[in-house]
Amino acid sequence: MLNPASLRQFLEAQLPAALELLRQMVGINSFTLNRTGLKQLGQFTAEAFAPLGFTAEFVPSTNPNFGEHLVLTRHGTGSKSLALISHLDTVFPPEEEARNNFHWQVEGDRIFGPGTHDIKGGTVMMWLVLQALRTHAPATFAATTWKLLLNSSEEMYSPDFGDVCRAQCDANTLGALVFESEGRLGNEHLMVVARKGRATWRVTATGRGAHAGGKLSHGANAVVQLALRLPRIAALTNYSRDLTFNVATVNGGTVLNRVPHAAVAEGEFRAFAPEVYQQAKAALLALAGPGEVRALTDGFPCEIQVAILTETRPWPRNADTDRLFEFWRQAGEALNYPVNFQERGGLSDGNLIWDSVPTLDGLGPWGDNDHCSERSADGTKLPEFVEQSAFVPKAALNTLAIVKLLTPNGD
Ligand SMILES: [Zn+2]
Repeated sequence: MLNPASLRQFLEAQLPAALELLRQMVGINSFTLNRTGLKQLGQFTAEAFAPLGFTAEFVPSTNPNFGEHLVLTRHGTGSKSLALISHLDTVFPPEEEARNNFHWQVEGDRIFGPGTHDIKGGTVMMWLVLQALRTHAPATFAATTWKLLLNSSEEMYSPDFGDVCRAQCDANTLGALVFESEGRLGNEHLMVVARKGRATWRVTATGRGAHAGGKLSHGANAVVQLALRLPRIAALTNYSRDLTFNVATVNGGTVLNRVPHAAVAEGEFRAFAPEVYQQAKAALLALAGPGEVRALTDGFPCEIQVAILTETRPWPRNADTDRLFEFWRQAGEALNYPVNFQERGGLSDGNLIWDSVPTLDGLGPWGDNDHCSERSADGTKLPEFVEQSAFVPKAALNTLAIVKLLTPNGD
């Protein structure tokens, strides 16, 4: 087995180079719609992993507004392979970074900056782990085919990235390891073993416009109709089944002297269990049809339409993920580093591939305030940050667990 003390010592020595990589990555804006920045970050990432023996391939997204996915490959001498998954994009447009003066900023143990935690810190974690494997488990490193898969558009919607992953993985791929942030509970480090699925929806009410002064009774008021339907959507939330519906936006009407002919609401729902998700979808779609709001003059009814806009299916608890987690639990015991697991509400690329390749998530470092760029003077609002001290122990955990996964009978 690896010697934990010398592994940690090696990782400590690598940390300054890792943080310098992170600083440069954070300096490249890679908002999902910034195709130029994404290309620049993709090329920088390819160069960072080239000394480890990786070659780069850029794969266009099926959405022309998004940048190219990045696939980095290092072929091994043996048959086993492992996929490590991250993403290139962040949620921060360049204007927002400038407006909030949100840049790389070190304060004590914390490094603030766009993507420090979600997920450039995770990509740098991959780099640290691969450095450690090359030096401390050279035979395993050389025998394994490594696939680093970086989504260009994880923060928006990228079902096509699941196809990219499946094309790069085969029956010899022992796992897909996602480098999103870890969870914390007390002093326990939480790996992610399940994530909710999410659907976004639009509900449209159509009615009949009319002059509000002269012919109000001829109108069928779409705003009133939509307003009657929204509480029924909200009531589909069922906490005991881990099912949540969020009514997020409402728009309707045009000017004040018109009976409104149209109104639109949008939102999402989420669930862990595939059957709960499917029942929720059916219940939402069942709210379509003729409305109860009608014109007084001739009974003209409002009409409700329900559309599902996007769908990312759930990643439920499953035996393959649990088997992968067991290597992390064992590695945590060996390192005296308390490890546990959680089921998380947010999505990741794990949702796209868990049933094609055994998947474990949460391999990234600890930090907080993802997707936030604001800072208030009194410190009650703080932007996204990663903790420097989180890298070495987590990299040691990941390294040891990966060695156990690849050589279950010892190296
Ligand atoms: Zn992320």
